[in-house]
Amino acid sequence: MCTGRRKAIYTENIKRRIQPRFELCGGSVALDFVNTLDDRFSDAPKELLNDYVDLARFGEDTGTLADEQVDRLMTRSLQHRDEAKRALASAIQLREAISDIFYALVRKKPVPTAALIILNQHAQEAAQHLGLAPGKRGFEWKFDAQTNDLFAPLWPIARDAAELLASERMEFVRACASKTCEWLFVDESKNHRRRWCDMAKCGNRAKVKRFYRRNQRVI
Ligand SMILES: [Zn+2]
Repeated sequence: MCTGRRKAIYTENIKRRIQPRFELCGGSVALDFVNTLDDRFSDAPKELLNDYVDLARFGEDTGTLADEQVDRLMTRSLQHRDEAKRALASAIQLREAISDIFYALVRKKPVPTAALIILNQHAQEAAQHLGLAPGKRGFEWKFDAQTNDLFAPLWPIARDAAELLASERMEFVRACASKTCEWLFVDESKNHRRRWCDMAKCGNRAKVKRFYRRNQRVI
């Protein structure tokens, strides 16, 4: 996991009412979403999405949902618990499909067809809720911020995953080189040689390990 010191480019301009709970160092909403299953490949993965409130909070932290929308969805999730459970289960299904696709590509393995079908379904569902609206620089595709649909947090994630997958940025998607971490991120460094999700944490830990190994040999 990263310390959050490396600010994701897409979250730089968010006006925050509270400090983010999620560590956003993936450089993409979809990759940060995959990283919500922490220590994914260890014997004891840590689930960071334990209820609907966590999912809505991810939307708030990444700026994909407006503050008032987050409040509305959180309140509604308490009144419609079964629907909220379905939305969370669907979000986890989406997350695991994105994970299967991106880790396969990073490891140069075949992309599982089932995962691609799931992402396609989510991306198509998301597209139904997009509309053109005036933005800061002309018109933009925006999701309906007035909706009370509890599945709304999933739409921008599915869209981001689909856009990243079909973009030139895809060749810079990496998994953190720390074997205990392996978080996904887009390497937007100048020379594209970034190895760690966060240098301050995973990078330094690797350096310390190398230092000890070297000294053991000398001794
Ligand atoms: Zn890492």
